[in-house]
Amino acid sequence: MVSATFNKIEMKPKEYKSEIKPVWCPGCGHHGVLASVYRAMSELGIQPSDFINISGIGCSSRLPYFVKSYKMHTLHGRAGAVATGTQLARPDLPVVVSGGDGDGFSIGGGHMPHMARKNVNMTYVLMDNGIYGLTKGQSSPTSRREMKAYITPYGGVEEPLNPILYMLTYGATYVGQAFAGNPKMCAALIKGAIEHKGFAYVNIFSQCPTFNKLDTAKFYRGLVEEVPEDHDTSDMENAMRLARRPDGKAPVGLLYQEDRQTLDEAMAGLVELVGGSADYDLKKIIDKNRP
Ligand code: SF4
Ligand code: MG
Repeated sequence: MVSATFNKIEMKPKEYKSEIKPVWCPGCGHHGVLASVYRAMSELGIQPSDFINISGIGCSSRLPYFVKSYKMHTLHGRAGAVATGTQLARPDLPVVVSGGDGDGFSIGGGHMPHMARKNVNMTYVLMDNGIYGLTKGQSSPTSRREMKAYITPYGGVEEPLNPILYMLTYGATYVGQAFAGNPKMCAALIKGAIEHKGFAYVNIFSQCPTFNKLDTAKFYRGLVEEVPEDHDTSDMENAMRLARRPDGKAPVGLLYQEDRQTLDEAMAGLVELVGGSADYDLKKIIDKNRP
């Protein structure tokens, strides 16, 4: 299953670095995610001019600046909506969103279920650090209750959202999770996501040592556990069971993959149905079908 028919080229991971140097804090997990993106692009042999990297707002949304590619740094929470339109306009190219937990699940929360249920043929890499980093440390939808941030000095009063369970529930056709401290696994999942035909979601635990003192790299290392080798990635029920393990461990690896009609395929079918061309007269069709 390959999502896009881009031209292949031989480039080393470091050759995908743009002229802009990462500005993230030392020890930030996003450095590991960036290295994984370079590695995945190199392994796929993607030509930079064939790669579209879209982001919203936040520390993680800066990632496209550091990648040699076409890119759009859009509005807070709106990367998914822009990516959906971009993918429909250029279904031949890989479209990848880079963003964070606040950007994706709070401000952009209205878009997430729809990208999944419509099976937009794109990749969503979410760097989950359980905090808003760019705005200096507010709790986010994935913050644990125990985490004290300056607007929640006594800890949170809400349960955190479970990103992979959420994505499985809404119909994402590729769901994986990794820790930024394991770039090999991150790169393999990102590569698989780009190759996948459909909405691919990759959740990456990516520590913010500056503002989230609870979810450290050490904490994530102890939290994660690889999905069992015999896990059947077409088994949705088992993927959901793994996503909500009672012992609180977080599964890493590929949890679920399914082949289903994508939004661009469905739209192409519709164009075919109304006359085989995108230049159809919509008014005529509506008038003809008016009850
Ligand atoms: Fe990374 Fe946190 Fe620094 Fe942002 S504030 S660059 S998320 S460590
Ligand atoms: Mg965040």
